[in-house]
Order: sequence, then C-alpha cells, then structure tokens
Amino acid sequence: MNTASDVLTHLEEQRAEVVAMARDFATREIVPHAAEWDREARFPVETMKRLADLGFFGMLIPEEYDGLGLDLLTYLMVLEEIAVADAGVAVSLSIHNSLAAGMILAQGSDEQRSRWLKPMARGDVLAAFSLSEPDSGSDAASLSTRAERSGTQWVLNGMKAWVTNGDVADLIIVMARSGVSDTPPGARGISAFLLPRRTPGVTPGKPEDKMGLRASHTTTLALTDVRLGAEALLGKEGVGFAYALAGLDRGRLGIAAQAVGISRAALDHAVRYVSERKQFDTPIREFQAIQFRLADMATRVAAARSLLHEAARGGVPNAPANAQASMAKLFASETAMWVTTHAVQIFGGYGYMRDYPVERLFRDAKVTEIYEGTSEIQRMVIGRALGNG
Ligand SMILES: Cc1cc2nc3c(=O)[nH]c(=O)nc-3n(C[C@H](O)[C@H](O)[C@H](O)COP(=O)(O)OP(=O)(O)OC[C@H]3O[C@@H](n4cnc5c(N)ncnc54)[C@H](O)[C@@H]3O)c2cc1C
Repeated sequence: MNTASDVLTHLEEQRAEVVAMARDFATREIVPHAAEWDREARFPVETMKRLADLGFFGMLIPEEYDGLGLDLLTYLMVLEEIAVADAGVAVSLSIHNSLAAGMILAQGSDEQRSRWLKPMARGDVLAAFSLSEPDSGSDAASLSTRAERSGTQWVLNGMKAWVTNGDVADLIIVMARSGVSDTPPGARGISAFLLPRRTPGVTPGKPEDKMGLRASHTTTLALTDVRLGAEALLGKEGVGFAYALAGLDRGRLGIAAQAVGISRAALDHAVRYVSERKQFDTPIREFQAIQFRLADMATRVAAARSLLHEAARGGVPNAPANAQASMAKLFASETAMWVTTHAVQIFGGYGYMRDYPVERLFRDAKVTEIYEGTSEIQRMVIGRALGNG
C-alpha cells in the first residue's frame, strides 16, 4: 500500500517533470523569438499550437475531459517558466486556463463541460474572458453591456474593452447585464455567457498598440444584436459577477506567476551582465553597490515566489483565505516592476536600448500592476478581508 509520503514523492516527481518540460520548451521554442514577437506585436499561432500539443491548454482540466489535471501549484510553476521566456504567451495561457476553463469547470452544466472542455484541453478552442468595458474597469460591477431575452434566446448589445485573446479566441466568456430592471451600477443582474467569437454581430477591434506584452493580442469587442441560445448562459442568471470574482481569484495567482517569471528573467540577465561588463578596469560585479542591488533583487524574487506558492496551497500564515491571491499578486507584480527597474539600471545605457532583453521585461512588468485588479484594488481587497477577520 502507498504511504502518504509515497504519494507526495510521486506528486513532486511529476511536478518536476512537467516543469522541466515547460522550461525546455520555453528555452528552445520561445526565448529565441520573443524579441521579434515583441517588435512585430505578433501572436505566435504556431507556438501556441505546439504548447497545446504538450497539453498546456488543459492544465487544470481533469483527465476525463482530456486535460492534464495538474494541481494548482504545478500549473503556476509551468506558467512561470513560460513567462521567463515571454510574458505575452504566459498571459494568453493564463486567461485560457485559470479564468475560462476554471469558470466552465466550476459553473458549467454537464452539457457545457462536454461541449467546451475537451476542445479547450486539446487546443482546438482558445478562450478569452471579457468583463471590462471602456467606462468600467476597477468598478467592474458598473458594466453596461446588456443581454435581453427574446423568446428562448438572448440578445447581447454593448462594447467590451481590453479583451486578451479577443481577436484570436474561439470562445469568449462575456459578462452582460441581463436583469431588465437592473440598471448599472451593481453586481446583481450580471450574467456570464459562453459566446463563440464567430457568432454574427461579434466584432473584435484591431489589436491595441501596447507598451508591453506585445505577443498577446488585446482588443475591444463590439456586440451588436448578438443572438445566443439558452445553452449559452453559464451557471445561474444574475450570478455572473460572483463567478467572475471567483475566476479572478484563480486568475490573480496566474498573474503572480507571470510576474515571478518576468522578475526571474530580469535577475538572470543582470547576473550574467555584471560579469561581462567592465568599468574602471574591473568587472562591475566587483562593485559593492552592484552586489547589494543584485542581493536585494534575488531576495525579493525568492520572497514573491514563496508567497505565491503559499497562496496556491491556501496557507499564507496569518492571512485571511480570501486575501491570499491578492497578496501574492500585489507583491509579485510590484516585485516585477522593482526588479526590472533595477535590471535596467545595472545594464546602464544598454538597458535603455531595444537590443537588450531587460528593456522588454521592464515594459512587460508594468501591466502586472494593472490587470486582473490594479495594485490599489488588491490593497482594498486585502484591507477589507483584514477588517472582516
Ligand atoms: C494588457 C491588458 C489586458 C487586459 N485583459 C483583460 C481581459 O482579458 N479581460 C478583461 O475583462 N479585462 C482586461 N483588462 C482590463 C483590466 O483588468 C483593467 O484595465 C483594470 O481592471 C483597471 O481598470 P481601468 O483600466 O479601467 O482603470 P480605472 O479603474 O479607471 O483606474 C484608474 C486608476 O484609478 C485607480 N482606482 C480606481 N478605483 C479606485 C479606488 N476605489 N481606490 C483607489 N484607487 C482606485 C486604479 O487603481 C488606477 O490607478 C486588460 C488590461 C490590459 C492593460
């Protein structure tokens, strides 16, 4: 009979294997192209297909739906490896796995799970998540896209903003206000819909010209008299906002993993560079100011990673359960911004040039403090949870 320690050893061996596979793929197939995808703002279709072949489109989807059925920590470690190579590729995977697949798994009917999860796990369907609108970001409950009943159908009208994978996704989970009498603002009356992107009336905008994360496409989504059958409603009518918040809680761990990956990449580049670069006839690694800077960078990366792993296990000491993902995301994203800023400083003038990777990492880091809840919103979530503790 297997003991608990056998089971743990097996899980750890499996985890090490999957993470090593992700690192190997990222090093061979993503790192050499990341600068070009960034320059050309290109969504790497072929590379995404190869990631799907490895099973990385179904990381959290159970094996009965053709997924890998990974535990949350292993999934986050894979995302981190991908983000070390390219944070844009990592966010496309994170939205697909944590938010979209997670919401269908948690709220989908048997029929919805059978219809969507298998093709999502195989990579035949890439998914997106659309909550934000031009006038509702942090105050997401004030969204105004409407879903009206028409016989047995739903008719959606409105304008969504900043949809990651918006023009390349096959399926978009869209939040719309369905209660006729429920006018914005207010979370009540918001429902979640499974919207195939090629449905008539769905028009993604051109990919936004972004500061960073340029291998990922972000678009608006115009919805004009979009007709959906009753089977498109995810879970219960009027409860969609709660589903979105639960999805974002998982999603924030994905963004924290992305931020740790960006930080690790910046630290690795900085550590290599200080041995190559000489000033005053001395490799700059000999200067104590540089050593102290690297020491602080390495310590913060390790701390962000530990906090993320504790949050993934739900075991951050002395922290309310509903604040742990926010804490991990807040700390990891601010670490990514801090570490990449210092990496650019270590590279001096070269750090400011597009030819050197730390410049891209610095631009990529910024958005981790903004999306899936800005740092201010994370502090509000944590503060409120402490207040209720
Ligand atoms: C690259 C990218 C990809 C994205 N992908 C998606 C996606 O796939 N799906 C999706 O739905 N959305 C997506 N978003 C949207 C993202 O989640 C929002 O941009 C984010 O939630 C912030 O909203 P906002 O931009 O409207 O900022 P605002 O809400 O307008 O905030 C502006 C500033 O005010 C601060 N602020 C707001 N309210 C408060 C308050 N109560 N107290 C203190 N400060 C406050 C904010 O912290 C911020 O500093 C994406 C955004 C980007 C940039």
